[in-house]
Amino acid sequence: MAYELRSARYLAADALRQVIRPGDTVIDATLGNGHDTCMLAELVGEGGHVIGFDIQPDAVERTAAALTEKGLISRCTLYAEGHQHIAQRVTDPVRAAVFNLGWLPGGDKSITTLWETNQTAIAAALYLLEKGGICTVCAYPGHAEGDRERYALAEYLSALRPQEYNVLHNRFLNAGPGAPECFIIQKQ
Ligand code: SAM
Repeated sequence: MAYELRSARYLAADALRQVIRPGDTVIDATLGNGHDTCMLAELVGEGGHVIGFDIQPDAVERTAAALTEKGLISRCTLYAEGHQHIAQRVTDPVRAAVFNLGWLPGGDKSITTLWETNQTAIAAALYLLEKGGICTVCAYPGHAEGDRERYALAEYLSALRPQEYNVLHNRFLNAGPGAPECFIIQKQ
């Protein structure tokens, strides 16, 4: 498809497609309905590995079902636990880590990502990134926790050493308040 300025998730996916190669190991830090996991599993190919996390068993089940339907489940390891445990579960370097914050679409809106656990997880993911690897974060301001998360995230990422990481912040200036935003961090 031709390049389109469409959404924060589209921008993240576009960067991931350019960086991930067959055989890579990547992290999906928020499984949700499994759309990102399926895309990542296709990008890493048969020899690659996707490691996924979600606190909601329902999200893990939906993701497993989507992967099974597409014949991609054997290249994925899914954990029904919070991404704050990335450092305990993943030890090898990763090519990419994907965070899609907020709540499960179609699910319980009171179960949303929280800045404190995000920070732990993003710090662990950044540490695990190989050189040239990227971490993408789609943030959804416009509700109380989403606003808090987005501002804390921007502050945290702004303080990363430029000798180690390049940090890009994409947002749609004319989309009104609360529009999703995309952060892309690449390890130098
Ligand atoms: N990437 C998903 C997709 O493609 O369908 C959408 C993710 S959804 C916006 C956010 C997900 O984050 C929810 O499923 C929620 O349960 C999950 N979540 C909330 N806190 C979490 C945590 N501490 N660790 C991992 N997942 C978490």
